[in-house]
Amino acid sequence: MNNEEIWRSILAQAQLNVSPAIFATWFKSTSIISIQNGEAVIATPNCLAKEWLEQKYRKQMIGFLREFDTSIREVFFKVEHSPAKIAKNKTVSTSTTNGQLGFDEFKFNKETNLNPKYSFDRFIVGPHNELAHAAARAAAEKPGRVYNPFFVYGGVGLGKTHLLQAIGNEVAANFTHQKIRYIPTEKLTTEIINAIRGGTIENLRAKYLDTAVFIIDDIQFISGKDKTQDEFFYIFNTLYNKNLQIILSSDQPPKSIPELSNRLRSRFEGGMIADISSPDFETRMAILKEKCQQLKFSFSDEVLSTIASTIQHNVRELEGALIKIAAHAKLKNEPPSVELCREILSAINPKKIINFKKIIQETACFYDLKEKDIMSDSRKKEIVMPRQVAMYLLRNEINASFPFIGRKIGNKDHTTVMHAYKKISSKIKDDDSFQEEINLLKNKIYNS
Ligand code: ADP
Ligand code: MG
Repeated sequence: MNNEEIWRSILAQAQLNVSPAIFATWFKSTSIISIQNGEAVIATPNCLAKEWLEQKYRKQMIGFLREFDTSIREVFFKVEHSPAKIAKNKTVSTSTTNGQLGFDEFKFNKETNLNPKYSFDRFIVGPHNELAHAAARAAAEKPGRVYNPFFVYGGVGLGKTHLLQAIGNEVAANFTHQKIRYIPTEKLTTEIINAIRGGTIENLRAKYLDTAVFIIDDIQFISGKDKTQDEFFYIFNTLYNKNLQIILSSDQPPKSIPELSNRLRSRFEGGMIADISSPDFETRMAILKEKCQQLKFSFSDEVLSTIASTIQHNVRELEGALIKIAAHAKLKNEPPSVELCREILSAINPKKIINFKKIIQETACFYDLKEKDIMSDSRKKEIVMPRQVAMYLLRNEINASFPFIGRKIGNKDHTTVMHAYKKISSKIKDDDSFQEEINLLKNKIYNS
């Protein structure tokens, strides 16, 4: 048997073992490059396929290969573009209807309800989600033993679902026999109500009561639903008492969810609570780069920074804009230019653009000062701190340069601005209530 024949029969075997979508996506376009010194090298059409096969199928591949050649000990994957495949890779996905990536090939796992695209690998960590991410990692490492429940809150499109599912996927990968369930609250509510109506509540309980990691997304939707809350309280307690991990997300902290029973509220507050706020400019750039890699787009940094400085408050929109721009560029058959990018962005989101003036205005208003106080060089204590905050935000939110900020505000030297920036950054790190204050101000800037 030559290598090609070996590979063909391995693919035939793989085809029997995975779903058609998985096969078409990850296996179909692979080929064998060599078998030498106990090592097989497999060609994959792109990085994503390479990573995926490496992470998920390396061991099985070795097993399959060894059936033909027992000397094989290792398998390597290598990206190799054949001309036909390059053309295919250029195809830009345009399924932007829900603003999500066009990853049709990813299937939800029917059992856990998790989507493999939401992994920790693909989750960019920045100052806005650092704490939530660290806690999520810890919970994934020791489910039920460190933070229980783990409660994440933050505005729409900021990565809550991604983070929650990453925990589930990570646990699924490391503890293969654990039962993991991800469920949106709306679905849980429907299930509970149907079970109460149909007298099948015991079945429903049986379905969830031995779940090692139970992930409930958007728990704010339980607000005002008393019967669902009662039943959920029962499920929660049972899992909690068995030291099984409960993970919740919401658009606001437990204390602000309206019409939530006190006993549930206090349960939600009994573990770890972490928030996700809006990513700063640098993190938005990193997220865009990550998405480009996933989607095989090559955008210039200039184009990416145009997107990142325009769409500031919602990662889902950031992603949506990227896909839209890619689709338009493809239509024009040229790489996306900054002009095209501006054109599309202004059509997507004319109102939400924040700029220098907006930051100064809102900061002044927030601290009960006049704009001209912030812009002055006064050394009065009550003005100095807000001015430093404005400098910090100009840098972080619209990526203004230190010399530019200095020139505009009180005609100061760039070192003064850098000093202000450092000072505010470290104060945010050290002082939780100050951090909350800055988040509040950011919300005002973005939402008013
Ligand atoms: P939420 O549940 O908070 O509304 P999602 O988790 O659905 O937000 O995130 C919206 C989109 O943005 C998803 O496609 C997600 O992958 C992406 N996203 C959000 N935060 C990040 C991040 N830190 N790194 C990478 N992608 C992110
Ligand atoms: Mg969500």
